[in-house]
Order: sequence, then structure tokens, then C-alpha cells
Amino acid sequence: MRTRITEMLGIKHPIVQGGMQWVGLAEMASAVSNAGGLGILTGLTQPSPEALQKEIDRCRDMTDQPFAVNLTILPTIKPVPYAEYAQAIVDSGIKIVETAGRNPEPFLPLFKSAGIKVIHKCTSIRHSLKAERIGCDAVSVDGFECAGHPGEDDVTNLILLPLAAKRLQIPFIASGGFGDGRGLAAALAMGADGINMGTRFMVTKEAPIHEDVKHAMVNANELDTALIYRSLSNTARVFRNSVAEQVLDIEARPGATKFEDIQPLVQGTKGKELFEQGDLDRGIWSAGMVVGLIDDIPSCEELVARIVADAEAIISERLTALMQA
Ligand code: NAD
Repeated sequence: MRTRITEMLGIKHPIVQGGMQWVGLAEMASAVSNAGGLGILTGLTQPSPEALQKEIDRCRDMTDQPFAVNLTILPTIKPVPYAEYAQAIVDSGIKIVETAGRNPEPFLPLFKSAGIKVIHKCTSIRHSLKAERIGCDAVSVDGFECAGHPGEDDVTNLILLPLAAKRLQIPFIASGGFGDGRGLAAALAMGADGINMGTRFMVTKEAPIHEDVKHAMVNANELDTALIYRSLSNTARVFRNSVAEQVLDIEARPGATKFEDIQPLVQGTKGKELFEQGDLDRGIWSAGMVVGLIDDIPSCEELVARIVADAEAIISERLTALMQA
């Protein structure tokens, strides 16, 4: 399949890996890139800009295919030296960056002068149009189904994607709720140039997280996610474990929620330990509604090949047959 995204990014298949905190290590990104998709290293998973440069080098040793770096600009417990991370990305010779969260405009002159393609992840049409206006090369349109931060509008991809197709000139990637060939065919039908998958790539052989986390996601259904931080206007969709339930209980108390009251439960370092140790109630972890569609743990190569083959079969057989009937 050739789309504006495969052409722009120099990849074989229109499948991009989401930039996932603690998961977007070289093992993950290189496996996706070697499978013909776009792998993404998560910038803030590395403790410093220098460590990110080392991780980029490590990823280069593991793949000769294009890969990107994600830079997420959202509230954090510790201040992040974003400008230094951005400079480290440029100095490492990276050619594709995925930005997410707040407006990436302050970083665009640096990235563009280095010839970097910038994909901004947006949870609304107004943000997508703004990203186009300020010079982003593409957007990833993240529907309400997604893992992590879906924004506060709660609009699903059945509405967001056709709106993006109607209003945007730049290519866009459909993100949130994708995990199989039906999803890819549907995204392309709605005007997208590819799909972005985070949760589905977490449940692969190469994902650098504990097997028990992967099995929990295989066993989960579409109701097993929860929306936390709603009361703080920083909503995040996470796996519905006992910690997520505790956060929801605190947020349901009368009066305004204070982040300090939930911080010990949600701090990212606990999520990191959860992924390393397989202790499913150590902290929280991001997961999308697509957990309901996941029932195996394939390699990235198997997964990408299967999704593309299934999408091609749907388009060339099922949909084509409908036209002939
Ligand atoms: P962290 O340990 O600094 O914070 C843990 C969580 O609390 C994060 O979701 C963060 O957004 C939230 N948070 C922190 N301070 C807050 C405040 N004052 N008010 C409301 N919420 C607050 O973060 P981390 O887990 O190390 O992650 C690093 C960055 O990556 C954060 O910006 C986080 O939001 C982001 N992230 C994004 C996704 C995604 O799906 N887009 C998923 C995981 C993490």
C-alpha cells in the first residue's frame, strides 16, 4: 500500500507505532521499523537528553530503516528540559519527530531547519488545523478510543477522521482504537493515510514489558480501561486495575481534586516498575479500548504483515464484491 504517509516517511506499510512512555525503547522501535512500519522512540522515557542520544544510537544499531522520536509536552511531576531534548534529537540526525500534547510551535524552527518531518498528535480538529497552519508536515488524529491522553472533547474517530479528511490538506494518521486489518481498511476508507497503534504494539513479542502485562491485555475486554484525571482536565485512558479504581474514588470525592492526593498512585516511575516487574497493581499504565480486540502476542513482523494482508483482502475481496453485487 502506498499512501502520502508511506511516501513522506519512506516506510513500506502505512503503520506507525505510538510513542509510549517506558515502552518506546530501541527494542520496540527497531522491531516495528524492521517490520516495515515506523518505530518511535519515546523521548521522555530516557532520563536525560544524553541518554536519549545513546538510545537513538542503540536503535540505529538494531535497524537500518527509518524511525522517529516522540516528544510529549504535557504536565509532568518533574520539570522537563524540552529544549535540550529537542536539540539532542536534532544533533542525533533524526529525520522524523512526533510531537504530542501542547502546541509544538516553539520547536518547529529548530526541527524544520534540520530538515525534520514533524507529525503532531492532535485530539481535535481545531488542533489539527492549527498544526497544519504552523507548518507541521502531518498530524496523527487521536480519537477518544485511544490510550493515554484523549483530550477533553470525547469525540471518536468515526467523526474525527472524516472531519480531518474534509478539512486538512496535509496527510493524517488515524490513531486510537486501531489493532487489526479491519481498522486499517476503515481508516483508509475514512481518508487517513495510515494508522498509529500503541496498545496493540505493547502486546507483541518484542515489546520491552513484562509478559504478565501482555497477558493481562490479552485477557482484557473493551470495558477494561478507565478515564482518570478528568477532574484535572488532563484526562488519561489507562488499564482498569485497582490503582486506577483508587484514583477514580479520590476524584469522586466532593470538592476539587488535588493532584498531590493522587500523585503517589500515578507517578510514572511506578508505571515503569510495573512494566519491569509485572506487578499489575504497582501503578497505572496507558491502554486503549482496543484491548478488547487483542487476543494474541505475535512478533511485530507477524502483526504488521497480518494487518496489511487482512486490510488488502477486505478492500480487494469483500468491498469489491459488494460493488459487483
Ligand atoms: P509523571 O510521572 O511526571 O506524571 C504521571 C502522570 O501524572 C502523567 O500522566 C502526567 O501527565 C500527570 N501529571 C503530572 N503532573 C500533573 C499535574 N500537576 N496535574 C495533572 N496531571 C499531572 O509522567 P510520566 O508517566 O513519567 O510521563 C511523562 C510524560 O509523558 C507526561 O507528560 C505524561 O503525561 C506523558 N505520557 C503521555 C502518554 C500519552 O498517551 N500521550 C502516556 C503516558 C505518559
